[in-house]
Amino acid sequence: MNLAIRIGHGYDVHRLQDGLPMYLCGIRIDSPRGFVAHSDGDVAIHALCDAMLGALALRDIGYHFPDQGDTWKGADSKRLLSLTYDLVRKAGWTLGNADITIILQVPKIAPLVPRMQACLAEILGVAADSISVKATTTERLGFAGREEGCEVHAVVLLVRAGEIS
Ligand code: MG
Repeated sequence: MNLAIRIGHGYDVHRLQDGLPMYLCGIRIDSPRGFVAHSDGDVAIHALCDAMLGALALRDIGYHFPDQGDTWKGADSKRLLSLTYDLVRKAGWTLGNADITIILQVPKIAPLVPRMQACLAEILGVAADSISVKATTTERLGFAGREEGCEVHAVVLLVRAGEIS
């Protein structure tokens, strides 16, 4: 079957550590702890990239941007997102919408959601209301609840280029 839409899911986790910067959806978060990572650790963007790659069976973010060697060391994840979306568009697809769920105990990030939406929308060249960002805690259960890390789920719908209105 040759559907004009493709769905993709992405999931990523990063560990929290004192003294590191925290980035989520391209926004620097005011936090004494940040994410351990080879890149800037923007776990939300990583999940979004994986969702887009997954929709087209284009492997995963680690395949395209390996976390070994110096090429992507300290990389700005906004650039990884831009390059990932280049792959999507070259394959003939465009983003319909994305829905991102960030699971983090602290800090509260809900007030930053509009800025996160705007940041991602600008990178992708879509309307901000095509990008949903949701934040939840786990009621202190599990590794996120113990403030050991952050997990993010992302779902995207891709539409074959030319079929979006
Ligand atoms: Mg990651």
